[in-house]
Amino acid sequence: MATRVLESRFEHLSVNDENEPADGAKYQKSKMITTTVSSSTQLSQNASRANLLKIALQNQNTTSTIVSVPSRTSQWRASRTLNGSGSPPMKGHSVGGAEIEEVAHERKSMYEQPAPKVFHLGMFEIGRPLGKGKFGRVYLAKERSSGYVCALKVLHKNELKHGDAEKQVRREIEIQSNLRHPNILRLFGHFHDSKRIFLILEFAGKGELYKHLRRENRFPEWKSAQYVAQMAAALKYCHKKHIMHRDIKPENILLGIHGEIKLSDFGWSVHAPSNRRNTLCGTLDYLPPEMLKPGRDKNTYTNKVDLWSLGVLTYEFLVGEAPFEDTPVMTQRKIERGEMTVPSFVSPEARDLIKKLLVIDPEKRISLDEVQEHPWIIKYCVKGERAAQRESKSTGSRYSDE
Ligand code: AMP
Repeated sequence: MATRVLESRFEHLSVNDENEPADGAKYQKSKMITTTVSSSTQLSQNASRANLLKIALQNQNTTSTIVSVPSRTSQWRASRTLNGSGSPPMKGHSVGGAEIEEVAHERKSMYEQPAPKVFHLGMFEIGRPLGKGKFGRVYLAKERSSGYVCALKVLHKNELKHGDAEKQVRREIEIQSNLRHPNILRLFGHFHDSKRIFLILEFAGKGELYKHLRRENRFPEWKSAQYVAQMAAALKYCHKKHIMHRDIKPENILLGIHGEIKLSDFGWSVHAPSNRRNTLCGTLDYLPPEMLKPGRDKNTYTNKVDLWSLGVLTYEFLVGEAPFEDTPVMTQRKIERGEMTVPSFVSPEARDLIKKLLVIDPEKRISLDEVQEHPWIIKYCVKGERAAQRESKSTGSRYSDE
């Protein structure tokens, strides 16, 4: 019964995909995938992930619809990602945000060359719906040849157009497909047909963090600290690449199969090599004062905006609600004044971190390095990690040749 419902749901996914190869691996009606990814399936998943990555890299190097010849840089990038040991083709090549610009440049310069057709709908077996977003749905999917389980986000072009969100999606693709970090959701590639855009995403097995927070009401300190540490690691990676996320909130964070943070939704993120931006975006509850109130800098802001949002997030993890929650007018007023109270059940260490993040002057806000070194984080994360490392080292030396 459920299978029939799913099949009928996918009737409307058209077969004549623009990206379908001429020799035509035709799209077959989807079957329900049994897809609980358990630890025992991880090994084969890793192998098939490598295959999907291979396709993704081909796709990325050739940029699905625009570029056909991989450049030396992208060939290097492919070898680096696949075997983890590739070295840059040129001395001094930057792996930071400049890389993104470089890719964009490559795309432009090779524009209008024949499009290689790498990803297409027929390559995927579609499973259960995972959720619904503003502009489309997300389905569990399996890449047929590798067996790799992923999430397929289907966005309808006309809805994007009406919602004025085309730029947002383009930005999301451009930025997220260039990020590789264990706490950032991977975007393996994308393809489209006349009506829809498909994003091939890493499957986040434990779903939305927001739902966990609502279910548990608030998180215990150890869990909050571990989430904050993982968020700090993800943000540090982004900032190093000159990317500000700008829309950090529990709804934009997914959890991997082991319960690890997977930062997603880069629709509002921006690549700003100068580190300064002046667009108003994001969600009111998480917006920092400098984005609400034009200061001396004429409303420009830096990647410190993400640190403020991290403070709001830390508070929400521990308390169960955002610190400035109120009517929109009152929320804005409270943010501008930094007006909030931390309940007494929050530990002094956690309170200290929140207060150091929710500082009105962005320059006086604690840095990501300092977050990672904060006693509250050390208490629940680093000490645990260090203990685990010590344990594995001592076990290792017992069996090593030395
Ligand atoms: P979005 O359109 O990105 O807001 O996604 C809508 C919903 O689909 C989310 O709230 C999640 O519950 C689910 N979802 C999106 N992406 C994934 C993913 N990669 N893995 C698992 N669930 C997802």
